[in-house]
This record gives sequence, C-alpha cells and structure tokens, in this order.
Amino acid sequence: MSLIQIKRQRKSDVNLKQVYDAIVVGSGAAGGMAAHVLTSKGMKVLLLEAGKKLDLDKELKSTEWPYEHRRRGEMPPDAHALIPNEYTIRQPPYAKGLPHKHVYSYVQSWGGSDYSKNIVVDERDHPYTGTNYAWVRARVLGGKTTIWGRLALRLSDLDFKAKTHDGYGEDWPISYADLAPYYDKVDLYLGISGQKENLPHLPDSIFQRPTKLNFAEVKLRQGLKKMNRVLTPYRAGVTTDGLKHNKYRNRCYGRGACNRRAGGCDIHAAFDSPTGLIYPAMDTGNLTLRTNAIAYEVTVDKNTGKATGVAFVDAETKKTYEAKAKVVVLAASTLESTRLMLLSKSALHPNGIGNSSAHVGHNFCEHIMGPGVAGLVKDLVGKPHTLDDGRPGGFYVARFRNLTDRHADFIRGYGFEGGSGTTMFPGNAMGTTGFGANYKKQVRDYAGAFISMGAFGEVLPRYENYVDIDPEMKDAWGIPVLRFHYKFGDNEKKMAKDMADTAREMFEAAGIEVVGVEREILTEGWSIHELGTARMGMDKKTAVLNQFQQSHDVKNLFVVDGSSHVSASCQNPTWTIMALAWRSCDYLADQFKKGNL
Ligand SMILES: Cc1cc2nc3c(=O)[nH]c(=O)nc-3n(C[C@H](O)[C@H](O)[C@H](O)COP(=O)(O)OP(=O)(O)OC[C@H]3O[C@@H](n4cnc5c(N)ncnc54)[C@H](O)[C@@H]3O)c2cc1C
Ligand code: SF4
Repeated sequence: MSLIQIKRQRKSDVNLKQVYDAIVVGSGAAGGMAAHVLTSKGMKVLLLEAGKKLDLDKELKSTEWPYEHRRRGEMPPDAHALIPNEYTIRQPPYAKGLPHKHVYSYVQSWGGSDYSKNIVVDERDHPYTGTNYAWVRARVLGGKTTIWGRLALRLSDLDFKAKTHDGYGEDWPISYADLAPYYDKVDLYLGISGQKENLPHLPDSIFQRPTKLNFAEVKLRQGLKKMNRVLTPYRAGVTTDGLKHNKYRNRCYGRGACNRRAGGCDIHAAFDSPTGLIYPAMDTGNLTLRTNAIAYEVTVDKNTGKATGVAFVDAETKKTYEAKAKVVVLAASTLESTRLMLLSKSALHPNGIGNSSAHVGHNFCEHIMGPGVAGLVKDLVGKPHTLDDGRPGGFYVARFRNLTDRHADFIRGYGFEGGSGTTMFPGNAMGTTGFGANYKKQVRDYAGAFISMGAFGEVLPRYENYVDIDPEMKDAWGIPVLRFHYKFGDNEKKMAKDMADTAREMFEAAGIEVVGVEREILTEGWSIHELGTARMGMDKKTAVLNQFQQSHDVKNLFVVDGSSHVSASCQNPTWTIMALAWRSCDYLADQFKKGNL
C-alpha cells in the first residue's frame, strides 16, 4: 500500500528489471559501510540515495580565502539559517511564515556557509512538525559525512551494559568484545588520528599520528591530570599517515580547513563516505548507484510479509519507480529510516514494517549540549602567534562522572570538546572594543590566548520520547513527514547544571582565568546525534532489531544506522555506527550465502 498518490513509472537510468541481492537505502556513514562490506563479499548491490552526487572538491573549496568569495563565504541574502531562539520561540515547520526563499538549519549560520548550502537540506522542501527540534539533514551522496566534525570515539561496556551498571533502560544485546574487532577494521580501513590513553571507558583505537596539543591545551591537560581526568588530542576520523589501499584519499596536510567552516575536506583526508567507502565499492563492479532516488516505501510480499524491494520517487522528475532485491538494508539516517519503516504499511505490517512491537519511533535519544566554558591563558597574551588551527580538531575530555561512583543528582555522563590557539579568524576580534592601531594591537595580543570547551551529555532513551508520521503534512515530493514528541528530561537538566559547574572547576584547577561560563541548554537536536527509534534487543516485544540489526519481524530487512542504538552514551556515534554496520553486513552476507534470508 502506498501512502503517496503518484503514478508509478517503470523507466529509470539504472536497471530496475534486475533483482539485486541487496538494496541499500542511504549513502552516509551507515549506507556507505553496508555498500562496502556487501560488495566486497561479492553481493550485487543497488544503492539508492535521495540526494545528488556533488563534485565535493568544487563545492567545498576548502582553501578559498574569504576575500576570494564575493560575500566572504556567506550565503546569498535570500537564504536564512535558523538561529537558536527561532528553534524555541517558534514551532516546526520552521520555514513557515519566513520571508526568505531558502531556509536552512542552524549549521548554515557558521562561517563559510555558502560552501555547504547545496549539502544541507532546505527546510522549505523538508518540513517536520511537533515539538521543538533542531534537525540537521544532509541530502547528497555521502550524507552528513561530507561535513561532519570528525570526532571518532569508541563506546565501552560502560555504555553497552549501562543498565547493568545503573539499573536504567536496557543493555545492548552485544558487548565491547563483540564490536572491538569491527572498530579495529574501521580504524584500519578509514584511518583515525589520536593518542592512546588506556581508559577502560573510552577504549583506544588503532591510531595514526596524533595532532599536537598547543600550549593552553597542554596546560589544561596537566591541570586535569591532578583531578584524575583525561584531556586527549582530538580523536579524528582523519588519515594523518595516509591509506595505501585507497586511491581517492590523501593524508592530512594540516590545513585546518575542515575546522573553519561547517566541515568538509576537499582532499579527503577527513573521512567522507563517497571517497572512503562508495567509490572503492563501485570499483568492485558489484555496486550500482542511483542518486536522486527518494525511497518512500519498503515493498513486501503480501503472502510472506518479506521485503521485496523499495519504491522510490525521483527527486527531480517526481516520477516513481520500484527496485527489487532479495534483501533490503535501511541506512537513511536514524530518523529517515524510522520514517520509512512507519510509512511502509501493508496488511501484514499494519503499524509499518518491522513494527509488531510498536517500538519503531520510540526510545529516541541523543546528546544534550549547551553548557561550557571560555577562559584566558595570560601567559600567551602578547606572545608570537603559532599555526594552531592547522589541524582537524582540538581536544576531547573523556567522561569522568558515574564511572565507579554514583552522582547524587543524575546517572550516565558527559565529555567535552574544545580547542585553543591562534586561528585564521581571531574569535576575540568581534568582542574587542576600540578602533585603529590600538584596536588591532589588542586583537593581535589576545588572539591565541583563549581556550574554550563545550559538553556533550547522554540523553536517556525513554519510550515517551518518539516520532510518528504527521497525518497531514507532506514534503515537496508528497511524502508524509515526521512529527516529533520529544523533550529533555530531569536527568539531562541536572546533568547540564553539573557540566557548567565542572567546566569552571577544571579551568580554575588548571590556572586558566575563566572569562565566561555558559549554562543554557541548546534546543533538542543540536548535537546532530539523533539515535534510537528502532532499537536492538533480544526480546521482540520491546525491540525492533536483533543484535545484527536484523528486523525481528522481517528476516530480510536490516536497519544499520543509529536508529538501532539502545542508548546514546556520551560519545559521538559515527565510528560505532560504522563498526556495527560492518558486523551486521558480515552476518548478512554469510546468511545470504547459506540461503537463510
Ligand atoms: C556539522 C556536523 C558535525 C558532526 N560532527 C560529528 C562528529 O564530530 N562525530 C560524530 O561521530 N558524528 C558527527 N556528526 C554526525 C554524523 O555525521 C552522523 O552520525 C553520520 O553521518 C550518520 O550516518 P548515517 O549514514 O546514519 O546518516 P547520514 O550521514 O545523514 O546519511 C544518510 C543518507 O541517507 C539519505 N537518505 C535520507 N532519506 C532517504 C530516503 N528516503 N531515500 C534515500 N536516501 C535517503 C540522505 O540523503 C543521506 O545521504 C556530525 C554531523 C554534522 C552535520
Ligand atoms: S586539516 Fe586535514 S582533514 Fe582538515 S581540511 Fe586540512 S587536510 Fe583535510
């Protein structure tokens, strides 16, 4: 049964008469990994991607100077990026009622946003409804990995077995030992830079050369050491030593370009899914790519309930097509895969495919952001400048709450991302008063002497935090949109207070003058780490997927993105998404070969 009424056509630029071994929906971190693993096992795969294949090198122009751009990198005046207040004072759909021709999510308010405007979606075409949520989406080949922030962290058994640790929620159906070999594979195949710290709760990767901490960051690291807390160089999903097996990528030249705009590295030292996974998969001869293909339904056999393929609409012509496959792998990103499952209703799957548990859309979780601190390292004022932003990231402070003890006010934990040093655009210039030579001297003297960090904390998964399908609103292609029912809870709010307190405490302990402490919580969604909504678990009454991200209800349906995560942990999710997808697709290929799907 199709929810949208568009006449189906059978013509397309890829062979749709063929029954593929697998269809993968979405080409970001999850879909790219699925395409890589399945094609390397000899399976014939059709990859459906809703967005365009952009020439990222021409798009990102990482090394273009601000003065080479007619608006110094800013978007045209008819384009508007949502600001924090708009996300809370107004209600979604956020583009409604605004005079601008194009409306984008908040990431387009960062410097150099003209370079990412074709990557991030226009909210006019992609509305959603319900509670306030800053939903950032990228619809291009590679998805959000084309501009991601590169922080690549592992989870540990403190995360996988969180319920055992503190009694809340559910444990994951896997442990660190199950995933560690796949984290290793991701490290070696894609490259990661970092420094070993031997922390049980933040396991080390197989690192390439780390980036260097600068003076202020070393000072903070030393200060934290006395508190038994660990500051480590940014663990970046970037190849600093190069990857001999991948001709599409270069080693990091330390140009810092990925840090100055919304992200993106046009020499592909930073991982992106097209050069890291999809182009190598195409070289196997086993991958067929169809871009501009917006999946809107997983089709099923009306007798068996098994998936038969995917119906999609062409983003440009709005014509609809059906592709057939023996296995369907959803990897459209957490909320888009969930939307697709909920849209795929049929007689045997009346609540949406794979949703006999009624848990699809529920147990939505992510990271809470906002609290942080800014400080001044007086020893650096007036000192000669160094090239500090010529690197793909600053530092990370590992979680220290609720490891062995129990905080009185909240469970779980948080980490901090931060940085310091001289940058191409001295952040202090805007806040410095005066003019002329004195003003310039003041800006120069203080540039590089500031250090700041902001927290990312675990948001607990709760059944009552969920998304469903809006009964009325549709997107520009006639596909019903998501409706949010999602709010931070008490645990998150108490954790946020502690984040601000400990941020100050740590700077003071390191002898850094605190110039500002941020206590405000940013709108739900700000972390761009939406997770849960189709969680894994052993019990099919309360979980959507098994430990191999395979639907409990439909054995030839897999969902390999962040929707499968049982809890959010406080570590950034992308490296885990890819390790899990690798593990599940290994299993999928094995079961396929045995004829079990
Ligand atoms: C600015 C920014 C900074 C970030 N920083 C970090 C970081 O430092 N560390 C970290 O771990 N994570 C970070 N993230 C998050 C990270 O990018 C995501 O976790 C990751 O990309 C998720 O992979 P995915 O494959 O699930 O989704 P995506 O990368 O979003 O890919 C999903 C793909 O599916 C496609 N798609 C969607 N719907 C459909 C449909 N109906 N039919 C066909 N195709 C569809 C989309 O077009 C897209 O290409 C950041 C993200 C952004 C935007
Ligand atoms: S610092 Fe490295 S990862 Fe970042 S843009 Fe430069 S080369 Fe790419």
